[in-house]
Amino acid sequence: MKEIIARVRDVGGAAEWTESVVVPDGVDGSEYFERLIQTFNDTFMPGERPRELIRVEEMRKNAIGKHAWEKSSLVTQRDRRGQYDAYRCKNCGITGKRRSLPFAIERDPKYKAKKYEGCPGREQG
Ligand SMILES: [Zn+2]
Repeated sequence: MKEIIARVRDVGGAAEWTESVVVPDGVDGSEYFERLIQTFNDTFMPGERPRELIRVEEMRKNAIGKHAWEKSSLVTQRDRRGQYDAYRCKNCGITGKRRSLPFAIERDPKYKAKKYEGCPGREQG
């Protein structure tokens, strides 16, 4: 899933605002929003005004998806807490370690922040 943010305004109006929707990956954000605006413009109510799209930005949304951990060390590593295998997410590139206990992969200290909990998906570019 990804979040699409669009700047929208009333046609001829000064005020603009932001709207966002979450859509499946692979959906073209601009097309999606153009359709939304078109639908609004086809059905707007008395007192409302037609809208226009200013621009669309696709955001990678945090806390969506799971990391796709891939073992990145050929041999078991060792540090002062014991043995571990090094892992790397093949989508977003963060790294972690898997020790025998707890069995779950723990994110490396520089990726400890909450925002790394979910996988934002592939890095762009
Ligand atoms: Zn990831």
